[in-house]
Amino acid sequence: MTRRFLFAPLIAVALFAACRPSPEPGAGGITQVATIDALLAGAYDGTVTLAELRRFGDFGIGTFHALDGEMILLDGVFYKVRGDGSVGEPPQSETTPFASVTHFRADVREELPAGLDLPALEARIDRLLPQANRFCAFRVRGEFRHVRVRSVPAQSKPYRPLVAVTRNQPMFTLQGVRGTLVGFRSPSFVKGVNVPGYHLHFLADDRRSGGHVLEFTAATSTLEADTLHDFLTIRLPAPGAAFEKVDLTPDRSGELEEAEKNPAVRD
Ligand SMILES: [Zn+2]
Repeated sequence: MTRRFLFAPLIAVALFAACRPSPEPGAGGITQVATIDALLAGAYDGTVTLAELRRFGDFGIGTFHALDGEMILLDGVFYKVRGDGSVGEPPQSETTPFASVTHFRADVREELPAGLDLPALEARIDRLLPQANRFCAFRVRGEFRHVRVRSVPAQSKPYRPLVAVTRNQPMFTLQGVRGTLVGFRSPSFVKGVNVPGYHLHFLADDRRSGGHVLEFTAATSTLEADTLHDFLTIRLPAPGAAFEKVDLTPDRSGELEEAEKNPAVRD
């Protein structure tokens, strides 16, 4: 009986917290829309507006309704890299079927050696932030000797699986470009939910090129990283969305590898 009385105010607090808008939703953690396996299966209909997603972070990556390009959220501004490689700022009313965002607050900053490539960056972050079971958001700003990126053109229904779309993905090699890598390192336990390991997008300083990063070599660059100590929140699409009919039982690790990694280094 005593226990019941103790719980009553707790429930009231929880209900109150659920009803009022949080001052900074998602602070210290990641908020994501849907799951990577749903995207791999072709659930490309957008379910959350950019205006809504922006409440949960000022930094992130993802894609757009109908898989219409690569998303970069940097310093609170959304950018879309279209299938032809051009970049624009999408309207806040546009929606996303899959994205991950956080409020980026760097707790580590260091200059990186010239010549650094993607495997070397991953090794460096792993040494710097060895907590492999935590999420880490990071950005690398600087001058790049080259960045190989891809984007994807908008799809029409019936949607094909992601791995079929990316087989013909437009790829671009940017030479001598200043810009920012925007990425996450996610723990292995997110398998099926997000991308375990590293996932990076790139945006040029002139906002004229970017995309999903396949490989790069940096000239001079600075790493800023934010170890995330809080939760992962998943915004599941509303009832009736295609998400509900997707079969999420198969292991799609092989498809993920093929869809997201550099074709040149895939084994
Ligand atoms: Zn990507």
